[in-house]
Amino acid sequence: MIIAVDGPTASGKGTIAKRLAAHLGVPCLDTGLLYRAVGRQVAINNGDPDDPADALAACDFPDELMDDPVLRSEEVGGLASRVSIHPGVRKALFDRQRAFAEQPGGAVLDGRDIGTVIAPDADIKLYITASVQERARRRWMEMADREIEIPLIEIERDVVARDARDIGRKDAPLRAADDAHIIDTTEMDREAAFEAVLEKVEQALKQD
Ligand code: C5P
Repeated sequence: MIIAVDGPTASGKGTIAKRLAAHLGVPCLDTGLLYRAVGRQVAINNGDPDDPADALAACDFPDELMDDPVLRSEEVGGLASRVSIHPGVRKALFDRQRAFAEQPGGAVLDGRDIGTVIAPDADIKLYITASVQERARRRWMEMADREIEIPLIEIERDVVARDARDIGRKDAPLRAADDAHIIDTTEMDREAAFEAVLEKVEQALKQD
């Protein structure tokens, strides 16, 4: 059983995917972390994230980099969004994601193109979204909790820029698969969002 959880930046899809995986007792892959590792490795190599060859060379990052907390920073998120537009990078990361999806017993993967490119054969596809303002507000609150002070307007600008790059890229743009369940969490708190997801998943599992 493959479950694809896609959606734009700061939509809460990562939290939902992890919780869903724990609920179902299957492993979860945050595919954004792979792109973040590539973005970080480009910086370590003193490379240019907008240069396809530099970005491709960074796909050879060491496995330990995946555990580095710096990957969660806004700066690395921005680098990830830049390296992810290169088709060579997406191709280099494909097999790893596909192998994770195909493991016996099933898996949950969250990202931007899971339901459309990595696992178009997924049993359940979820597309988690929320308004730009709400996503920026949530990210701002998260950062305030970590005592990082950034004006809300700057975060909103960053969310808009990342959406534009993710939706506008030619290769594997962010979009909901035709057969995805779209869940807009703008008006929901975390609990309500998870309940809404669980309802869709349980319905889908019953139909099997
Ligand atoms: O989800 P997260 O914010 O960690 O992803 C960082 C960046 O990696 C995104 O802005 C997106 O550009 C890219 N990404 C992608 N495809 C995925 C996951 C992430 O292009 N499956």
